[in-house]
Amino acid sequence: MKSFLLGAAAVMCLAAPALAQQPQFSTARINENIRVLSSDAFEGRAPASPAETKTVDHIIKQFQAAGLQPGGDLQADGKRAWTQAVPLALFETAGPVKVTATAGGVTQSWTQGEQIAIRAAQTSAERVTVQNAPIVFVGYGVTAPERNWNDFKGQDLRGKIALVLVNDPDFETGQGDFGGKAMTYYGRWTYKYEEAARQGAVGFIVIHETAPASYGWATVKNSNTNAIFDIIRQDPKAAHAPIEGWLQRDATVDLFRKAGLDFDALKKQAQTRDFRPVELKGVSLSVDYPVKVEKVVSRNVVGLLPGATRPNEHVIFSGHWDHLGVGQPDAKGDRIYNGAIDNASGIASLIELANAFGHGPRPQRSVVFLAVTAEEKGLLGSEYYADHPLYPLATTVAVLNMDSMNMRGTTRDLAPSGDAPATLQDDLVSVAGQQGLRVNPDPKPEAGHFYRSDHFPFVKRGVPALSFGGGVDLAKGGVAAGTAAEAAYVRDRYHQPADEFDPNWDLSGMLQEVGVFYALGRKLADSGEWPVWKQGAEFKAERDKTAAQRK
Ligand SMILES: [Zn+2]
Repeated sequence: MKSFLLGAAAVMCLAAPALAQQPQFSTARINENIRVLSSDAFEGRAPASPAETKTVDHIIKQFQAAGLQPGGDLQADGKRAWTQAVPLALFETAGPVKVTATAGGVTQSWTQGEQIAIRAAQTSAERVTVQNAPIVFVGYGVTAPERNWNDFKGQDLRGKIALVLVNDPDFETGQGDFGGKAMTYYGRWTYKYEEAARQGAVGFIVIHETAPASYGWATVKNSNTNAIFDIIRQDPKAAHAPIEGWLQRDATVDLFRKAGLDFDALKKQAQTRDFRPVELKGVSLSVDYPVKVEKVVSRNVVGLLPGATRPNEHVIFSGHWDHLGVGQPDAKGDRIYNGAIDNASGIASLIELANAFGHGPRPQRSVVFLAVTAEEKGLLGSEYYADHPLYPLATTVAVLNMDSMNMRGTTRDLAPSGDAPATLQDDLVSVAGQQGLRVNPDPKPEAGHFYRSDHFPFVKRGVPALSFGGGVDLAKGGVAAGTAAEAAYVRDRYHQPADEFDPNWDLSGMLQEVGVFYALGRKLADSGEWPVWKQGAEFKAERDKTAAQRK
């Protein structure tokens, strides 16, 4: 909190708003796009559902009206389509998920979504049946040779289910080899499941604790009891263990106690290098449920504005169009996850940017407007694009991604989703500063936001990319009001059916964000600048391989 206040003082002498060249953004159009995309008729915009067609058609119409050209897949006639086909595998539980835990000779049933949330298996098996699998606590489940850290110590996990802590080993101590409170990739649940497959375990079950997960059980439950998607894989078993799930902290503590173990004491041990896996004696887990496996094709929507003088160099604006669809009802019985803020607001912003560029002076470089699918399923639309780029990544200047805009009103700051160790971050700071906005350092590096947005599949492949959103220092009420509003959003709306359109939103903060996206995109699109990774950034080597292609 202190750093925000210091930042505010520093910025007062800098702010020299240069808004003269800013286009007019249409609040009427923004409201209408959010309202339509998040209406019940769009059924929460699940990929490969009937709602996909409505959503994709709506975005294409808006891109056309903005003056964009189709920028998607090349067709037989040599012309581009408006979309990029994204083939995905879809896994759904096809009947009741039966889970029983046996401890000290007593067997109890767990209810899917209550004590436990098991994802539909992504191994291509049509039934998952595990009987009395032994349970091993593996601490944080990390293998990090470069940090001289291995939680497994040679433990054989074949035939066993591992319980694993979320986040990384120094999250709670705040100091250590994993960035202290900041999360490394080792802290992400995606990493834990990747490690489960490498270890040959029957399954990894992540223990849910709100602080290190950075979200509550409702989020875990909704995301994991839904249909699960993956890109199509040659050998799905090499990437996924049969059981991937989450377990409530209370159920975990109870299980440890029945095995004569103290959860909190073992967690402390897991925060040290000397930790060794611990088998829960007399405890086993049985799981049985059918899986429906389907192959589907979803779509990214791609609009293109060719550059005037450097058409083979591309700046990408991106945002995800999908949300969670129709799922478990909330307390009011509402089953439609409308996703108004997440991310109809981002798509409405993408459409505003398309209009500003499409109806403004032609940029020197080409600008791509990319509305990706399946973000909520694990960044799959952006992963697919980055793996099958329509325009070469080597000459992709930067990716600027928007996810969940600020509906809380005017702010004095912006918040990036993690701090990119790249000159692109400096460009953001300078452009925002010209509009009187300071850029806070990531206020919650422990949440691992840098790995959780659609810019990350590009980052992994070396392309400078970032996501940012509105800050918390509200013009009305300051940091206290902003922080409270953010907490209320996470508690009451985030990934819940209550993320609905509100005609009384104050869009002034969102307009600030769109203004910064525009100015940063303009700066990149009208120059020959190539943002670079800074020394020591883990993504620099990948980018440097193609340096000769950038002039
Ligand atoms: Zn989102």
